[in-house]
Amino acid sequence: MLELVFATNNAHKLQEVQAIIEDKFFLKSLADIGCTDDIPETGTTFFENAKQKTDFLVNKYGFFCFGDDSGLEIDALNGEPGVYSARYSGTRDMDKNIGLVLSKLRGVTNRAARFKTVISLYLNEQQYFFEGSIEGVIIDRLRGTSGFGYDPIFIPDGHDQTFAEMSAEQKNSISHRAIAVQKLADFLKHF
Ligand code: IMP
Repeated sequence: MLELVFATNNAHKLQEVQAIIEDKFFLKSLADIGCTDDIPETGTTFFENAKQKTDFLVNKYGFFCFGDDSGLEIDALNGEPGVYSARYSGTRDMDKNIGLVLSKLRGVTNRAARFKTVISLYLNEQQYFFEGSIEGVIIDRLRGTSGFGYDPIFIPDGHDQTFAEMSAEQKNSISHRAIAVQKLADFLKHF
């Protein structure tokens, strides 16, 4: 079985992708390969950041690998918070990050936004990218307690609940991450 390193230490993400791609590839986490480095994420696009993760692993270890980068793009904020989603307010405190988004959008009528995920895959000396996105709107207050990040202020188009009001199964069946992972899995299954 071919081994593939997923540039993450999130066991949940790893299991989710392993389940989708079944047993054609055996996935390993950063911890599994003894990588404790803080892999740089200094790009200005999700593509650059995802590629930085695989470049790092390829250069340091030579493994076949993939890595992802995600975030929220808000049209009225010219695509912000984008690659800065995790630290938009200068901290990782999501109350502050969400607070900053809501204050910048106060009185703004264009609420269109999308979550995006880009996955970079390095396999057999080739570079591949897989993208997933989901369109929606940013509401003006927090609703719901599940999920993470900006979930309480994002309602995907065609729904009336925020991501944070949906069950994990519901969110995972439509999310940007699920779409990108499914594209990766389809590619790997037919590889
Ligand atoms: P990551 O690249 O998956 O670590 O995501 C970077 C940041 O984007 C996270 O820290 C969140 O703030 C935001 N984000 C990414 N995906 C989601 C999501 O599914 N819901 C809410 N926020 C998200």
